[in-house]
Amino acid sequence: MDAQGFQINNKFYMREFSFVKAIKAKSFNVVPELNISNIGRSTRLCIDFQTEKIHGLKLRTSPGTFHLKNSNIDSFIPVLIETLTNKEKPLVAVKNQQLASILRGLNLNFVNMEKGSFSVPSLKMLDEASTIGKWMCSLHTVFKTEHKRCGLRKSLMLWSWLNKKLDEERELSLAVIEL
Ligand SMILES: [Zn+2]
Repeated sequence: MDAQGFQINNKFYMREFSFVKAIKAKSFNVVPELNISNIGRSTRLCIDFQTEKIHGLKLRTSPGTFHLKNSNIDSFIPVLIETLTNKEKPLVAVKNQQLASILRGLNLNFVNMEKGSFSVPSLKMLDEASTIGKWMCSLHTVFKTEHKRCGLRKSLMLWSWLNKKLDEERELSLAVIEL
């Protein structure tokens, strides 16, 4: 799972929420519910910077196109996780500090790919090694710079990396058995 959004005054406003499970993949358009009419110039500059340089997501989009509200996220995520997991595969994985802190706040178990023995390559490396080209999902409407972050793209790359790692481990354990 992954999320992209705006970090403003130490609060995270989600704008995109994505998950991948095998061939099921989806990006949700999230309304951040931030009242921008009464925010100051420095905050506006910060929003513009994140839009232009980081993810290409606009804070404001045309009405009627949203799937989720920022305020629904806390009740939505547990339901989604329940549909994505089972006894054999009980956990979701994230590589995202904001999303990790949301999951921790909800007392949900998850695999934090930024911690422990995963040694996940940086997203930049995954991006460069990827053969899936430089695309993003349709939520990102500002295309001035390359290498923006898309939750869906990131989820797909992490899913693919995790599966390759699992395959390698399986092959290795088979090789050990053959010895
Ligand atoms: Zn996206």
